Amino acid sequence: MRLGKSTSNLFRQRTDSTGGRLDVSDFNNVIEVNSEQQWAEVEGMTPYVALSEATLAENAMPAVVPQLKSITIGGAVSGVGIESSSFRYGLPHETVLEMDVLTGDGRVLTCTPSNEFSDLFFGLPNSYGTLGYALRLKTKTIPTRSFVELKHQRIDNPSRYFEVITERCDSDIDFVDGSVFAIDEHYITTGRFVDSAPFTSDYTYLNIYYRSIREKSTDYLSAYDYLWRWDTDWFWCSKNLHMQNPVARILMGRKRLGSITYAKVMRWNFKWNITGTLNRIAGYYPETVIQDIDIPVDNAATFLAFLHREVGITPIWICPIRAYNRSARYPIYPMHPDTTYINFGFWDGVKSREPHPPGYRNKKIEHMTTELGGIKSLYSDSYYSEEQFWRHYNEPVYRALKAKYDPDNRLNDLYNKCVMKQ
Ligand SMILES: Cc1cc2nc3c(=O)[nH]c(=O)nc-3n(C[C@H](O)[C@H](O)[C@H](O)COP(=O)(O)OP(=O)(O)OC[C@H]3O[C@@H](n4cnc5c(N)ncnc54)[C@H](O)[C@@H]3O)c2cc1C
Repeated sequence: MRLGKSTSNLFRQRTDSTGGRLDVSDFNNVIEVNSEQQWAEVEGMTPYVALSEATLAENAMPAVVPQLKSITIGGAVSGVGIESSSFRYGLPHETVLEMDVLTGDGRVLTCTPSNEFSDLFFGLPNSYGTLGYALRLKTKTIPTRSFVELKHQRIDNPSRYFEVITERCDSDIDFVDGSVFAIDEHYITTGRFVDSAPFTSDYTYLNIYYRSIREKSTDYLSAYDYLWRWDTDWFWCSKNLHMQNPVARILMGRKRLGSITYAKVMRWNFKWNITGTLNRIAGYYPETVIQDIDIPVDNAATFLAFLHREVGITPIWICPIRAYNRSARYPIYPMHPDTTYINFGFWDGVKSREPHPPGYRNKKIEHMTTELGGIKSLYSDSYYSEEQFWRHYNEPVYRALKAKYDPDNRLNDLYNKCVMKQ
């Protein structure tokens, strides 16, 4: 059984498209926003763009809003998300207060951190729809103001860069993320809510947000535009679709520039292997490297040096993460609650003139992630052996949840889904 809805932010191609589809696309409504008590109640397939519009109208936002408009709250909770408020509130699943889950065995269960289904409440994150589907969630919100003041600070030395990120995480700032453009060119971007702004920038049409990081030291965006600053150019990945050319942007039109359009084009490209075929004709052997990796901050400079040496993709998106509630444990995506992690996001194709075995660089990345005590999101390609995979993602707990909530395996198995692409 698979989830039937029109958008997706998964970047692994299925090898098997048989099986039924459960049409859940109508579970896309915001039920209630309570800005006094700071929570929102929402259906599982609601995209964050709709949820944040509803909360911003009440001067509030979900505590962590993933950067791509079509990411749904259920997808981010079961598939792990992140944003620049994660240094304070952790990952989106850490701010969920309660959820209704349709389990593989057909029950609809209300799960909270302390009721009889608390194991499912804590086990759903990183289960990718293999235990059940979140139909309704109650999630924490935080107060907003009209604008966000951004400061972009350049730091050349990588070790110093991660030290300063840690210092910023200890400050009273509202948002922290970063961008690495070259081996000696790192930026920290901090954001602070403000009530008024001397000017506001617009990166939804001809101007491109990621370029502004190198050009401006201070900037202002409306709160809404801040949340979606990365969406218009899919961070920087719109360049692969030639969408950073001003003429192409004008022809495309403001409304169509954004991750929803690009994701459709990329899926079409994957399906027909257009880029792969063109590369082969030109004599290149390409490998797609689309990964988000969380590494303890003490090892972040080592991981960054490895990425430059072995992968060579820039820019790289950087985002610090700290546990929101240090006593909570999410066993299928285990992170140490007292450790600051740095998320490295790098998404591109890497070409070489020599052939390599499948997953050549991706496997090196997985190996290095393990060496440095990190953990990897499973939304794109993974190459772990079954034994390696379950060492990272807690097989005993997962098997116990599976036996309790999906004993007939109607919803597939996490390894089969995320690594074998079934
Ligand atoms: C290029 C790229 C960039 C990304 N960047 C970011 C980022 O910047 N920030 C960020 O936070 N995340 C990012 N992600 C990861 C993204 O948050 C996850 O892939 C997330 O699972 C996508 O949610 P979706 O709603 O699009 O779900 P889908 O892609 O539709 O589904 C993802 C998985 O979750 C399952 N699922 C979906 N809805 C539910 C539900 N209600 N209950 C249970 N299971 C469900 C599906 O079965 C599927 O296995 C990125 C992904 C990609 C490909």
